[in-house]
Amino acid sequence: METTTAFIGLECVDCGATFDAAEATHQCSECDGILDPQYDYDAIDLDRETLESRPFDSMWRYEDLLPFTRDSAVTMDEGATPLVECPSLAEELGVGRVLLKDEGRNPTGTFKDRGQSLGVTAAVQHGASEVALSSAGNAGQSAAAYAGRAGLESTVYLPSRSGFTNKAMVNVHGGDMNVVGGRIDDAGAAYEEGLEEHDDWYPLQTFVTPYRHEGKKTMLYELLEQLEWDIPDAICYPTGGGVGLVGLYKGATELRTLGLIDDLPPLYAAQASGCAPIVDAYEAGADEHEPVEHPDTICGGLEIPDPGASPWVLEAIRETDGGAIATDDPDILEAGVQVAMQEGLEMTPSSAAAASGAWELADRGEFGSDDTVVILNTGAGNKEADVLRSHLMSQGI
Ligand SMILES: *Cc1c(COP(=O)(O)O)cnc(C)c1O
Ligand SMILES: [Zn+2]
Repeated sequence: METTTAFIGLECVDCGATFDAAEATHQCSECDGILDPQYDYDAIDLDRETLESRPFDSMWRYEDLLPFTRDSAVTMDEGATPLVECPSLAEELGVGRVLLKDEGRNPTGTFKDRGQSLGVTAAVQHGASEVALSSAGNAGQSAAAYAGRAGLESTVYLPSRSGFTNKAMVNVHGGDMNVVGGRIDDAGAAYEEGLEEHDDWYPLQTFVTPYRHEGKKTMLYELLEQLEWDIPDAICYPTGGGVGLVGLYKGATELRTLGLIDDLPPLYAAQASGCAPIVDAYEAGADEHEPVEHPDTICGGLEIPDPGASPWVLEAIRETDGGAIATDDPDILEAGVQVAMQEGLEMTPSSAAAASGAWELADRGEFGSDDTVVILNTGAGNKEADVLRSHLMSQGI
């Protein structure tokens, strides 16, 4: 495998067992836990000036902190997304600054590309010929794109309620697309059935591959560099399975280990009230979520009723002194529309939960008047333009 100097292997976050990354490809063989890439940080020689001197061209500029070399990467120059100043929002929220990290500018329009770039690179390194996953939509589209680029076959299971763009583009990228009646759990069950019949499939499922959260940690490196290393007072993240939130947390702890920052930025999980297991667990002071029995939200990316990594997500929120907030679908859509009207920026409904959550936190007095608030726009608004437009229709517009 073409691994980087500091990458030493994989460690199970549940039982602590360690594995050679050339052999272990997915979950822990001892306990089925999540595997997390590990590094020898003493072998990484990075300072702020070195990073600044590199072109801001893709997430692979942080190659030293990733498992695989840039030369071996399956990449479309994902990442390096702008952090856009939002003065109107700052005024509305009554804070010093609001900045939107616009992940909609990625190759397939969402931050899922960071995870799939790394996930598909690992698949190639492990000699896979076909990747497979179930997804709410965006991860499946992204996987099909990267698989196509790498010359791998892909099989994707999406629930019937996933968006038209996702379904269409899986096919356009050459993926084998299976639309499953029902919701994400039903798509997951159909995927498991398929997996049993195909032992050559290489799973790109959330947290089943160790590399998706690993790719997403680069969002944190970028936004701190873009803020010239000022630690923001809040990062609001629209949370489904929590892959990105865990990535942000890992990225921040790594920068602290390397001596590049002293404090961790507070991470806030924003969810939709119709499916808010992380918010419920946070408010209850629990270390783990309770599965949501009847999830129902228009935010497909957030409709994850049973997020297996919840202990890690809750740790990220608590260790960074962040928080968790749920808002209703109509408020989320309204926030997405307001951001589009006032700032010009387009947020997909799932992402708009982060804007809506920030609004609600501001209303509750969580922020100070000089605070800097970062909102993660995980996906482009035009992926679900119909959903945003229908919100206007509900208002007679
Ligand atoms: C997948 C997705 C999310 C949720 O991501 P997690 O990191 O798994 O919590 C949020 N927004 C969009 C647009 C997504 O596609
Ligand atoms: Zn384990």
